[in-house]
Amino acid sequence: MSSFSNLDFSRGVNWVPATFITLYQSILLLALPFYFYYTPPSLGLILMTVLLISMTELSITAGYHRLYSHRAYKANRFLESVILFFSSMAMQGSALRWSYDHRIHHAFVDTDNDPYSINKGFLYAHCLWILEKPRKIEDKVVSDLLSNPLVRLQHQWSVRLMILTNVLCFLAVGYFFSDYLGAFVMAVWFRLFVCHHFTWFINSLAHTFGSKPFSQEMTAVNNWLISLVTFGEGYHNFHHTFANDYRNGIRWYHFDPTKWLIFVLNKMGLAKDLKKMDPFAIQKKMITEGKCHLLTRLQELWYVKKEEIEQEIQEVSDGIIAKINAMQDLKKRYLEAKSQDDQRTLARDLKRQFKHLRKELRAEWRRWKSLSSSIQKLKPLPI
Ligand SMILES: [Zn+2]
Ligand SMILES: [Zn+2]
Repeated sequence: MSSFSNLDFSRGVNWVPATFITLYQSILLLALPFYFYYTPPSLGLILMTVLLISMTELSITAGYHRLYSHRAYKANRFLESVILFFSSMAMQGSALRWSYDHRIHHAFVDTDNDPYSINKGFLYAHCLWILEKPRKIEDKVVSDLLSNPLVRLQHQWSVRLMILTNVLCFLAVGYFFSDYLGAFVMAVWFRLFVCHHFTWFINSLAHTFGSKPFSQEMTAVNNWLISLVTFGEGYHNFHHTFANDYRNGIRWYHFDPTKWLIFVLNKMGLAKDLKKMDPFAIQKKMITEGKCHLLTRLQELWYVKKEEIEQEIQEVSDGIIAKINAMQDLKKRYLEAKSQDDQRTLARDLKRQFKHLRKELRAEWRRWKSLSSSIQKLKPLPI
């Protein structure tokens, strides 16, 4: 109930989106079983719907989120036009409105000023916040976007573009499959439903279930399972800590299709200036947060000998930080030496030292992980 009791209508009710979202979802949930029973869609239409869901949702994650809200990379005009076309089809308002809300979310996360604060309840953060009339867009928060003619145009024509793109999608898919009913139900109606919830999961699930390896003090969490249904946005604790990084999943195997798409667009020459956090800074943040978490956890374990464990935590974390600092220094010296013709031998030697240190650092991280998991396994005794 807290989600509903936290609704604040002091600015008024956001009638049009609230009515549209409530009605289309209720009718869809009632109609879908009949549609599947009487006129099931062809395999081709199902695949087309999956493709459209991916394109629509990626235009939100790679476009509204990482490009416009966080300026994690730059896109050329052609790519921006494609992004704005498909994101209009997603019916999530304009890029300007979306980015404004999202920048406020990052600046005031978990406070009353957060437009979709999880502290006001899971459902509130998921979608109930849309019922409230949105706050006025402050120019200073989105001044960069206001100077972008494409973003301004999309904002001015926002409602008409949302309708037009969806009508075009309906007509094109209906004509291609000679199935206008299927096109409407699957390629428009069902796609909207899936994409809305995929985006909303980022504000609800990704602030609830998961781990916090980078920032303990906020509700944003990392959870690879959430990434599967949010096109890579499930590494949300990392994202809230290093918001300008074009990646959310930093390891190559982290499921982050948005990151892969931006990478490919960069290789195709459509995107440039991809921002990436310094890996040393990321590791330092991880160890600092991890140490803080373990020391706090230790306070709950009154029955163990804390001094020895505290000492080990301090020793291993200090060792890791020292190695990272040494590697940073070696890298800097290596790059300097590499740029000078008469320093090639020194450069080779520094590279060797760097590789050796990297091996040692990996061993230290393994030691840290085993220490960390052995402390996590200890349970506080019941009082
Ligand atoms: Zn968030
Ligand atoms: Zn963000």
